[in-house]
Amino acid sequence: MIELAKPEIWFITGSQHLYGAGPLRQVAENAQVIANALADAKALPLKTVFKPVVTTPDEITKVCLEATADPNCAGLILWMHTFSPSKMWIRGLNLLKKPFLHLHTQFAVELPWDSIDMDYMNLNQSAHGDREAGFIHTRMRLGRKVVVGHWSDPDVHAHVGAWMRAAHAWHDWQGGAFCRFGDNMREVAVTEGDKVAAEMRFGFSCNTYGVGDLVAVIDAVEESAIDRLVADYADSYALVPELQKGGNRHESLRYVARQELGMRAFLEKGHFKGFTDTFQDLHGLRQLPGIASQRLMADGYGFAGEGDWKTVALVRAMKVMGHGLKGGTSFMEDYTYDFSKGNERVLGSHMLEVCPSIAAAKPSAEIHALGIGGKEDPVRLVFNAEAGPALNATLIDMGSRFRLIVNEVVTEEPPALPKLPVARAVWKCRPDMATGCAAWIYAGGAHHSSYSQQVTTEMLEDFATIAGIEIAVIDADTKIRTFKQELRNNDLYFHLAQGLMS
Ligand code: MN
Repeated sequence: MIELAKPEIWFITGSQHLYGAGPLRQVAENAQVIANALADAKALPLKTVFKPVVTTPDEITKVCLEATADPNCAGLILWMHTFSPSKMWIRGLNLLKKPFLHLHTQFAVELPWDSIDMDYMNLNQSAHGDREAGFIHTRMRLGRKVVVGHWSDPDVHAHVGAWMRAAHAWHDWQGGAFCRFGDNMREVAVTEGDKVAAEMRFGFSCNTYGVGDLVAVIDAVEESAIDRLVADYADSYALVPELQKGGNRHESLRYVARQELGMRAFLEKGHFKGFTDTFQDLHGLRQLPGIASQRLMADGYGFAGEGDWKTVALVRAMKVMGHGLKGGTSFMEDYTYDFSKGNERVLGSHMLEVCPSIAAAKPSAEIHALGIGGKEDPVRLVFNAEAGPALNATLIDMGSRFRLIVNEVVTEEPPALPKLPVARAVWKCRPDMATGCAAWIYAGGAHHSSYSQQVTTEMLEDFATIAGIEIAVIDADTKIRTFKQELRNNDLYFHLAQGLMS
């Protein structure tokens, strides 16, 4: 994946000096064993690094400051092996600007019922030590994830792993840059938003670049590079005859190779992690980028059409979250419906730009007319999305804050679609079409989304917690009446919690 760092997670154990040097040595040894086990766990995508046990307010403050300052630290796992009086943590936690997970675990799986004595009790007291920690986290209104269970348990690894993926995506956003070629589609509301508020809240920047500057880079691409990329297309996709070498529209394929190479060079030079374009501002481009956007997305760039920079950022974040997992993540749009009673389905697609990472089989490269934009016919990859569980997520700007909306879906193999010239996914909404779509609309969800076969609701919940924003989840348990009440409650909560700071 492009521009992907591999940050670390710090494992920090809290204790105090009440029990003497011997128990503290044991605490440090045990904590090291746990940190090493987490570092080796296959289900955990980021490396866990042991840090010395902290026992005083100064030590705690120091490690929190170091974590905040270290660009390679994506988050902290905190554990109170013994009792660590939590007023000692206030100063450090006030300065900590990294996500943290509170791992509520204990060194041994079983209690030694026959031999347990007060020394054992005092050494293994996270049952109450972590409650003292939890109080201060809650008292300070700190967003965090609490995971309970033995540190060797695969279920624990699954929950820690989901959080690590969210922390990784958050780390990726900090200082990340997204590129807009042109503004958003004229008169469209949901693709607008406050980029200043977004940078304050999320840590990424989004700025505009003239499409003419991109055209200059595209025009400068060398023919030999185009030859190589066209050969790559022929290897990777089923090219329709007219696009093949000798075909009457082969020149269009050569142009999109030029377009892809130019866009890639432009994005690489700026270290961008995603981009958006708009069919209303293509001055100097011969085609709306189709296959270029699709292939750049497949390499890890966030993308959304029509200037929708929030979806660009979300697609990128979800690609980072899902990195290494089976399946893919793509820009998506709820396009059209099948309302057949009892078999209601959504056909999701876009004009061109669906990421081939979600494809069920080798895509075909085709060329067809596009009714809007007034440009040459664009080349695009056409495929069906793989069947199976997936979700759609959308990030909207409520004016004073951001809301993340998630709908879990089940994607099906679509019927034959011989006349449809775009990539597509056909899904059933959870809990059902009427509830899923109504809830999405009540929540103000966009027509654009980030569709993922890799990312789970848990990862997005963790991500929203880290970001300090609302998440509205539409899943098998959703009931409209309670969902609407949740939205109202959240409106009030976030308004009060955030005050003027947005
Ligand atoms: Mn669109």
